[in-house]
Amino acid sequence: METSPRAIHHLNCGTMCPRGARMIAGQGGLLETARLVCHCLLIEGAGELVLVDTGFGLDDTRKPRQLGRPFNAIVRPQLDAAETAISQIRALGLDPGDVRHILVTHLDLDHAGGLPDFPRAEVHLLERELAAATKPRWRERPRYVVAHWSHGPRWVQHEPSGEQWFGFDSVRPLPGSDAEILLVPLPGHTFGHTGVAVKRDDRWLLHCGDAYFHHGCLHTPPYCPPGLRLFEAFDEADRAARLRNHERLRELAHAHSDEVELICSHDAATLARYARPAGVGSAA
Ligand SMILES: [Zn+2]
Repeated sequence: METSPRAIHHLNCGTMCPRGARMIAGQGGLLETARLVCHCLLIEGAGELVLVDTGFGLDDTRKPRQLGRPFNAIVRPQLDAAETAISQIRALGLDPGDVRHILVTHLDLDHAGGLPDFPRAEVHLLERELAAATKPRWRERPRYVVAHWSHGPRWVQHEPSGEQWFGFDSVRPLPGSDAEILLVPLPGHTFGHTGVAVKRDDRWLLHCGDAYFHHGCLHTPPYCPPGLRLFEAFDEADRAARLRNHERLRELAHAHSDEVELICSHDAATLARYARPAGVGSAA
């Protein structure tokens, strides 16, 4: 029988400090640094842990050059070992060896960096994302770092099965799990990008990954600081699909605010909603 997860921890598994706070975060000075996070979820079930995205990993903190010079120079990741998922899981008093499943929204370098820290976990993703990352087109190459999967992850590829979730396609990646978890394809940022929906008690939490970058995207009228909007456009694989999904997510957030809560990867203000004063992560 499916039950609610015992806890959902909201972790920041990578802080990035690009210059231009006003353009990127919508406030602060032009030359001030902005603060972007890598919002990951750690889902505690009965006897196992499920991770949603991994941010940066220990290898990235030891070998930052593997992320590429342009990324390091522009995005300025802080690469603190204490922020990696594996360190935070230990700090919570949990065993990283209990992470049986990792669900990745996509395989960009700031989402897949922690995969080598959990070599025994099954890594669930959409078929199209694995193809896009392992046989990247020339333009897509800088976003994927081969070292993040050179250990040979236990990939489990999924395709939507026809099951609908609030009008979105979906697929159930962990049929044996005691938690209700769905992949909700949201292509556009990358070709195989997906959201991850988790049900806790009577409400759904939809992790939208990089389907949108700023919480203002869900407002009417939508708002995104100009620098972030530019970055989103520069990094898109399929513009039409990305913009269509912005619209669909906005509709979902308005029509079903009592049933679904939306979060995205890099918005520090969204993560702060789940912050708890003294902890490394926060449980909800
Ligand atoms: Zn990202």
